[in-house]
Amino acid sequence: MIYLTDVTIITGDAIREGTVGLDHDRIAGIWADGDVPTGLAAPDAAIIPLKGMWLFAGGIDAHVHFREPGLTDKADFASESRAALLGGVTSVIDMPNTNPPTTSRERLEEKLRMASGRSWVHYGFHIGATNDNLDEILPCIQDGSAAGIKVFMGSSTGNMLVDRDETLERIFRVTDAEILVHCEDETLVRQGLEQARERYGENIPFSAHPSIRSREACIRSTEKALGMALRHGTRLHVLHVTTAEEIRMISAAKEKNPFLLAETSANYLWFCDKDYDRLGGKLKCNPAVKTEADRSALRKALADGSIDTIGSDHAPHREEEKDRPYLSCPSGMPSIQQSLPVLLTVAAEADIPLTRIARAFSEKTAKVFGIRDRGRIAPGYKADLVVIDPTAKADTSHPAYKCGWTPYRDETLTGAVRMVFLDGKMVVRDGRILSERPEGQPLQYDRR
Ligand SMILES: [Zn+2]
Repeated sequence: MIYLTDVTIITGDAIREGTVGLDHDRIAGIWADGDVPTGLAAPDAAIIPLKGMWLFAGGIDAHVHFREPGLTDKADFASESRAALLGGVTSVIDMPNTNPPTTSRERLEEKLRMASGRSWVHYGFHIGATNDNLDEILPCIQDGSAAGIKVFMGSSTGNMLVDRDETLERIFRVTDAEILVHCEDETLVRQGLEQARERYGENIPFSAHPSIRSREACIRSTEKALGMALRHGTRLHVLHVTTAEEIRMISAAKEKNPFLLAETSANYLWFCDKDYDRLGGKLKCNPAVKTEADRSALRKALADGSIDTIGSDHAPHREEEKDRPYLSCPSGMPSIQQSLPVLLTVAAEADIPLTRIARAFSEKTAKVFGIRDRGRIAPGYKADLVVIDPTAKADTSHPAYKCGWTPYRDETLTGAVRMVFLDGKMVVRDGRILSERPEGQPLQYDRR
């Protein structure tokens, strides 16, 4: 047995001082509020004193782009899963817009083989919807090969295009799978880009990004998705919510459909449109980072539970690509290693209860996807854990990403990852990986 003693145990329900016991790969017990386990005195008990430290369940990040296959000049599954582990994220679910895109069982199985033995964290995959593959991908959800179905509504990211309304209706009629949507209205985005070209020619400033990929584009698309989800009772995840209006719309819709879920990323909780002049293309992501008022609304929504989950939307590109002019600069930024330190810093700044962070960072995500035995600090669960020093600064200067940079490089983030446990084994200590080889396992899902 390993005992983590005198630690502040933070779960979705409570914050308590106590001891957590690990028996091989599982959490064996929790002794809080003055209780002391009798096994502590056993000769084979290993004791790790953690006074002043915070203990969370390891992060479960259901929104990552690890770029493999096809885009491995930017990132690969080994490099990015290693960075995830160093950031306290112990499970990831990867998005299907790789090259080729993950839109068939064959491609999904290729991806599962690709990650096997190479992932430093536990892993799973979403499968992508196209205009004509629903009959093939649904069984992949039902048999637990895929976590959820990703839909790019009316957009053409990575060759995945669902632009037929009758296809969208068919997808939204699926009520026994998690449907994840990227909501930006493509017509409005195209109009925004045309207007910017008229005004600026080829030299569009990055500060124009939130008027090109506008709040109206997000709102219109989210409105459409919510309308369909209400008609059909869809288990809809609105990914990377960025505006105050969308939070209000989703919260109102949740009263009629309790299976709706709102995700945002650390990027939108931390940055706002004032940062474009400073960071330029490095802040370009889709949807765009919006106003300070939106950021405040997102922080408030995380505090009151209107935002359910945090996905990093970790989307690496080479730094050289991000230094290009607007029209040739790709969207997306690497962030998974900084996601938890950002959340903790934001929580301190905006008075967000740490119980909410525990829910959004792991518990709720594990619950909605039915991730077996992970995502909670509770007896019987797998011991995927992260120990945080709440007073130490996170080192943002040496991110472990293959691309080597992060937009958080010059930010001050308080809350450093001290240790990470994966299946009961300490695998990270003080920014160093202790294990010799990747030990991530494929996630298993308990289907309804
Ligand atoms: Zn994404």
